[in-house]
Parts: sequence; structure tokens; C-alpha cells
Amino acid sequence: MVQTKAVRDSINLDIVFWDEYGQDYHLFKNCSNVSGNTESTVEQSFEQNKKQLCEGCKNNVAKYKEYRKNARDYYNSAIDLQDEKYYNRAFEYCDSLLMMRPDNKRINDIKQEIETRRK
Ligand SMILES: [Zn+2]
Repeated sequence: MVQTKAVRDSINLDIVFWDEYGQDYHLFKNCSNVSGNTESTVEQSFEQNKKQLCEGCKNNVAKYKEYRKNARDYYNSAIDLQDEKYYNRAFEYCDSLLMMRPDNKRINDIKQEIETRRK
């Protein structure tokens, strides 16, 4: 499905969020336009008549990518420099990003690495 590919191309993930109201599907779990937490593939959301990508989510793709990049960059710098400040920044970006996409595996891994390191 072309919409599945579009979602995958923009955020590298297949699952979207929606609720019983309206006809939108959402890329981000914390979108203020979605109430409830139903998750499914894009294809399944279409079967439920949720066929429009939320404008708000579309506009937040750039922010999501920026958080993802910053989380990775600060984490890599933290490892290279062994600098606590960079670990903290990386951790903050992981948290912000995981509010949007709790299922981002790479970011969950990074967050866990930092938590393990702090113990
Ligand atoms: Zn949305």
C-alpha cells in the first residue's frame, strides 16, 4: 500500500494510532488530536475507515527526526568523550522521542544503555 510506504519512509515504523472518532490515523502516540490508544498497521486503519494522515502528525515528522538524530548524536558523543553531560542530553532526547513513539527499538536500547550505565 502506498500509504504504508509513506509512513515507513517518514518514520521507519509501520504502526499508526487512531481512535473511534474522525477519519485520521496518527504517527505519534502523544498527538493532541488522538484520544485513545488503538494501534494497528496502516492497512488495518484503512479497514476501520481511518484514511487520512493527521496534519498535526505530518507537521511533527521533522521534530521527531530531529529528536532521533540528537539522541543518537549525543549518545555517540557521550561514548567517545565519556562525558556525563552528553549522556544526560541523550537521555532527555530519548525520553522526548519515546513519548512520540514508545516502540522505537533503537532509542529504547540507547535509553536502557544509559540507565544501566548510571546504576
Ligand atoms: Zn495526529
